[in-house]
Amino acid sequence: MDTVTMLKPDDIKALIGALAKDITDHADELTALDSAIGDGDHGYNMKRGFEALAAEADALSTKPIGEALKAAGMKLVMTVGGASGPLFGTLLMTLGKEIGEAPDRAAFNAAFRKAVDSVAARGKSEKGQKTMLDVLYPIADALDGGGDPLGISVEADKAAEATIPVIASRGRASFLGERSVGHMDPGSRSVALMARTIADFMETRR
Ligand code: ADP
Ligand code: MG
Repeated sequence: MDTVTMLKPDDIKALIGALAKDITDHADELTALDSAIGDGDHGYNMKRGFEALAAEADALSTKPIGEALKAAGMKLVMTVGGASGPLFGTLLMTLGKEIGEAPDRAAFNAAFRKAVDSVAARGKSEKGQKTMLDVLYPIADALDGGGDPLGISVEADKAAEATIPVIASRGRASFLGERSVGHMDPGSRSVALMARTIADFMETRR
């Protein structure tokens, strides 16, 4: 993750583009997951948000990393509907605020955990309720454990899979109670997808 300090404008643009493509490619899958236990808009919400980021990639890429993350977070709050927009927006805005100018690995990890905590505070939620936190906290733990990006993305995939048997107790899926069992949480799947895209991107930059 030390590479975060070395991201050049072209890298930031490429990463935003890769994330937007990945979310767009998986929008139908995310929507299907949300149709099963929510209102079926998660893929559309995420696609709209990441298309908005891609449209501003030039401007975002020339900002210092903290400012870029804050601006991207604000953009997501404004463009992604539903619960997930403000939550992903909060994640990026807090990360941007906490990350500093040139974070080393430990500083990045500490900032990421604070960002995840800020999502929990905003969502009045905690790990284990079948929400995106069920993948965000395992990623924070894997970062602290010193894992490499691909290893961390494998952990994120496992954590998303692990939401399948959970009874939802936050978000729309909680309205279904026990009927939410047997389905992966859509927000968790989104986080795992993004973790994989970021890991693949970092592999190409090694
Ligand atoms: P909405 O539920 O408003 O339709 P989305 O479908 O875009 O919004 O996003 C749903 C996802 O948001 C869920 O799968 C879950 O991961 C996440 N989520 C919902 N509520 C919360 C919450 N209170 N805390 C954390 N994550 C949440
Ligand atoms: Mg929804």
